[in-house]
Amino acid sequence: MNLPAQTRPRFFAQRRLACFILLVLFFSGCAEVPLTERKSLSIVPHSDVVALGFQEYRQVLKKAKLSRDPEKVAMVRQVGKRIARAAEWFLRKEGMEEDLHYYHWEFNLIENDKVINAWCMPGGKIAVYTGILPVTRDENGLAVVLGHEVGHAIAHHGDERLSQNLLANFGGMALSVALAQRPQATRELAMAAFGMGANIGFLLPYSRIQESEADRIGLMLMAKAGYNPKGAVSLWMRMKQQGGKTPPALLSTHPAPSSRIADIRHYLPEAMALYRRSR
Ligand SMILES: [Zn+2]
Repeated sequence: MNLPAQTRPRFFAQRRLACFILLVLFFSGCAEVPLTERKSLSIVPHSDVVALGFQEYRQVLKKAKLSRDPEKVAMVRQVGKRIARAAEWFLRKEGMEEDLHYYHWEFNLIENDKVINAWCMPGGKIAVYTGILPVTRDENGLAVVLGHEVGHAIAHHGDERLSQNLLANFGGMALSVALAQRPQATRELAMAAFGMGANIGFLLPYSRIQESEADRIGLMLMAKAGYNPKGAVSLWMRMKQQGGKTPPALLSTHPAPSSRIADIRHYLPEAMALYRRSR
């Protein structure tokens, strides 16, 4: 571009200012995923996402039949508490202390043998369906699933998916406005975004990148909690065998790329070192 000599500095100053504003806008709409340091889209304040999550959790529990099997309920709470403690350690280690106050852990076992699923909402609200217990088999298997689900929550994948959904469906409308104008549609988007979509028949698979991030964080959480991360390989193999005509809800929302087991093996040394230190 040929600019008169005296206007060049002003032009470049304006361009720098424009770049600066764009950068500020970009990063204010971004969050960073721990471990991988990937930048993810986040146009909704996390406090709003958590508040909506808590509200939806209460709704799900109100309609659900909770398990009355004291042994199974105790196991879910026991594994859940250990993973939650590891998650708090992980947040501190990753310099995400400001996230700690959002977590109000709760673990519930929902009586439904047909649903092979579990999820963790933003803010640490967890549901496990009795149908997944034959696949997880024992505490170690359940720790794989809960570690993975809590991994999605820690990486703010729900926030990212909700932001993407709001952009795609309502042109990036603020959450409060979307809830006021289209309450039902917005709540369904949120449930799908938080991985609970199977319950409203609206499935939204996590992306391959999100799955891989949740696998990696999950391995670290279970290792820190004292569960052998090698169990992740056998758990995902058993989950895959559940396929057939009606694949488990967990697999519909958490698609398993063919490379999943290989990726998990790749992250195992890092997790095994932590497991040995944590025992
Ligand atoms: Zn997942």
